[in-house]
Amino acid sequence: MATNAFLLDISRCIGCQACTAACMTGNELPAGTQYIQLIEQTRGVFPNLAGGFKNHRCYHCTDAACVAACPTGALFKEDGMTRLNREVCIGCEYCTDVCPFDVPHIVDGRSSKCDACARVTAAGGEPWCVRTCPSDALRYGDREEILAEAHRRVEAILTRYPNARVYGETEAGGLGVVMVLPDAPEVLDLPANPEVPLLVNTWQKVVQPAALGLTSLSVVVTGVAAVIARRNHMQELKQLHAQEAAAQKEDSQERGAA
Ligand code: SF4
Ligand code: SF4
Ligand code: SF4
Repeated sequence: MATNAFLLDISRCIGCQACTAACMTGNELPAGTQYIQLIEQTRGVFPNLAGGFKNHRCYHCTDAACVAACPTGALFKEDGMTRLNREVCIGCEYCTDVCPFDVPHIVDGRSSKCDACARVTAAGGEPWCVRTCPSDALRYGDREEILAEAHRRVEAILTRYPNARVYGETEAGGLGVVMVLPDAPEVLDLPANPEVPLLVNTWQKVVQPAALGLTSLSVVVTGVAAVIARRNHMQELKQLHAQEAAAQKEDSQERGAA
């Protein structure tokens, strides 16, 4: 089976928003929804400052935490991409909790994120964002070829950007969006070592196999159980934070009295 990937060359992105607009129009996204966020950045240390853009989107992780956590199979892997079938999403928010890049959001009670233009690529076309980018910052194709191109580009910019590197070759098990970074990931607001929460693996081993292959009624029941489990988890977290705050207050009162 083909394993595809995007190339996202941050050193070439000029923040023109063409990809964002093409994605919204091509995918007929509802008003207020967008799958790409362009965030202006100032990099470096004064007086050596430079401007640039973070091009934030789903990174299509090979070992996708969102897929591992999803109890209904709404999120799944295909051709190296992380797809989303909103029809079977039950809005439990597990994907939003576990994504190491904070990508999915709940819109109208269901998860929302880039699905790598599944319909367009199935028909042999290129994703809307790729075909629209005017500066060749985006490409889509076979992952091995994308990786080779990313390394070629890094070599070509090393004189200008000595800290340039490829990001996404191995991070989080390898990303479906291979990036050319002009600087270290931390400088560009990306995690140096994106990690999948440990609990996700347990969840994947215990709950997800139980949900897959069930009747739609069973999936709904499993989904409701997931929502309840999440609510309990959030209550436990709140209690824990309240206990910590109370302990800190007590501690500072004792120190004040001493
Ligand atoms: S970036 Fe987040 S939403 Fe996208 S595949 Fe990875 S875990 Fe899933
Ligand atoms: S691949 Fe398609 S859905 Fe994803 S950001 Fe690009 S245009 Fe939007
Ligand atoms: S279209 Fe290309 S250059 Fe413009 S913002 Fe998107 S990635 Fe950057």
